[in-house]
Amino acid sequence: MHNPCVSCGVCCALYKVTVESSETEDQPGGVVPVALTVTTRGHRRFMKGTETFRKRCAALTGKLGDNVACAIYERRPLACRRFEASWDPSTGGNPLCDRARAIYGLHPFSEY
Ligand code: SF4
Ligand code: SF4
Repeated sequence: MHNPCVSCGVCCALYKVTVESSETEDQPGGVVPVALTVTTRGHRRFMKGTETFRKRCAALTGKLGDNVACAIYERRPLACRRFEASWDPSTGGNPLCDRARAIYGLHPFSEY
């Protein structure tokens, strides 16, 4: 099945992506690269680049809305694994996906 996410990626450039402390590679069973995360003053950890006002995850490669990839796809955090794409009929839709696309001028799937 064609995966529209590979020509989108805007959710990775709009939302703060939380990384639980147990998910980083320095913890038993953790896989998320520590170098791609950042810990804020509130002691919460996020994917680097998503903690700022103008967000873009440091693991996102390519051009938004055109051709993108997650450089750590197999090692991405749970927050990313759980983020459902609205184009996927098995999800029942995700308003956060649609909202991100609308903000970036892409058609939200809920309007299709
Ligand atoms: S905003 Fe939706 S379609 Fe775009 S990459 Fe994220 S999940 Fe995929
Ligand atoms: S880790 Fe990958 S899937 Fe998660 S926000 Fe970053 S680029 Fe997107």
